[in-house]
Amino acid sequence: MDIAYVLKLQNDYFETHETKSLNFRMNQLKLLKKAIQEYETEILLALKMDLNKSKSEAFLTEIGLIYDEINYFLKKLPKWSKVKKVRTPFVHFIAKSYIVSEPFGQALIMAPWNYPFQLAISPLIGAIAGGNTVIIKPSEYAPHTTDVIDKMISETFDVKYIKVIQGGLEINKQILEQKFDYIFFTGSASVGKIVMQAAAKNLTPVTLELGGKSPAIVTKDANIKLAAKRIIYGKLINTGQTCVAPDYILVDQAVKYQLVTHLVNFIKKFYGDDILNNDLYPRIINEKHFERILKYLDQKEIIYGGKSNQETLKIEPTLIDQRKLDDSIMQEEIFGPVLPIIEYTDLKEAIKIIKERQKPLALYLFTDNKQIEKTIINNVSFGGGCINDTIVHLATKNLPFGGAGESGMGAYHGKATYDTFTHKKSILKKSNLVDFELRYPPFGDRKYKVFKKFFK
Ligand code: NAD
Repeated sequence: MDIAYVLKLQNDYFETHETKSLNFRMNQLKLLKKAIQEYETEILLALKMDLNKSKSEAFLTEIGLIYDEINYFLKKLPKWSKVKKVRTPFVHFIAKSYIVSEPFGQALIMAPWNYPFQLAISPLIGAIAGGNTVIIKPSEYAPHTTDVIDKMISETFDVKYIKVIQGGLEINKQILEQKFDYIFFTGSASVGKIVMQAAAKNLTPVTLELGGKSPAIVTKDANIKLAAKRIIYGKLINTGQTCVAPDYILVDQAVKYQLVTHLVNFIKKFYGDDILNNDLYPRIINEKHFERILKYLDQKEIIYGGKSNQETLKIEPTLIDQRKLDDSIMQEEIFGPVLPIIEYTDLKEAIKIIKERQKPLALYLFTDNKQIEKTIINNVSFGGGCINDTIVHLATKNLPFGGAGESGMGAYHGKATYDTFTHKKSILKKSNLVDFELRYPPFGDRKYKVFKKFFK
């Protein structure tokens, strides 16, 4: 279907104001939840085919989170949607002030392939809740999941309200040539720049949820065994193809050996000794990414793992003793099950290594030392993160999730998603009962003296 035609339909529909009522938005969220429940088996199967995600992992990371988010919205949306009264400064006497959350209009959601269901549907919840019409562009690299999303959405919603558009580069270009009222993009920083450039032509506001190199710092006073367990958990979910996966470890040299021993133990505990034949271990999305990740293994000090299977596109969890900081593995986002480990003797070195790179999407600090916690939080800029854990900060409704600098702009999850998809329209309503002459011209010296008294 022609993209401009879909946009015209959606624009006409938006102008009927039907998408704006609270009742309508609540009903659409309920419809969405029902549709996901009906399609759950198909979604799980598609995720198995696209990424070999096990049922449990796929449910937890792609579907469970979405149910949770919709339930939360159904509970909170009536309150969030209310006109918000705020105080009015005395200088405006007599007046009232309030904020109205209104939809932007036509929203575009562009999603990546690594959590192809969750990352397309999670922003959709906010777009519906805000009262927008929506075009969803899922990733062509997860074709089975994209097909199911398309089928589910087209059976549940009218094209004039929500439409999935499938396709590769050419379609992406055509979509970005159109004028939207909001663009929500999740993907790489390089494509994020293309999206922002296209948005700039119409001054369309954007959220960019990007990636980057997210470090895990392990200090000598950390609980080393638990640190290893939680790092391996965050690294190997979806076999490292997670935007917030710990990308590399910075470890105090005093506890490096201990940490590595535990890392190896937990890899085996979670995935067994014959990982390449473990059907519960996900695969790399495609051959291009498989080859890209294998290049990181050339001539590196492999401490553990390193084997792969071209036919199944699986790569063993691989630990690398990383000595050189200018290797490509320390310049690019790894996005696979390879984990470089860098030792430091002074925390300042670790901070320097992080700061020499782009601001990370996430940072994980393992320590029991409050002073170190303060130093890192106050001196290093990053999107968000955890103390003594990995990745779970994004599964918390009360924490806005997003990047900083090159890892993104804007944030979502919970109320932040609703705020992202609504414009805050500020209104000051003035009474006609009194009207002070002071604010009106002529602005002579006497008024200057009065203003000086008011604004010190
Ligand atoms: P990508 O940037 O290649 O693709 C994302 C979307 O953009 C897809 O829908 C794709 O079809 C489209 N696209 C690709 N090339 C395009 C172009 N030239 N012009 C217009 N559109 C284009 O990203 P990906 O490979 O699908 O995903 C991996 C990246 O996404 C990683 O960097 C990862 O860290 C990041 N990511 C970030 C988050 C987050 O929440 N911050 C979540 C998941 C993934």
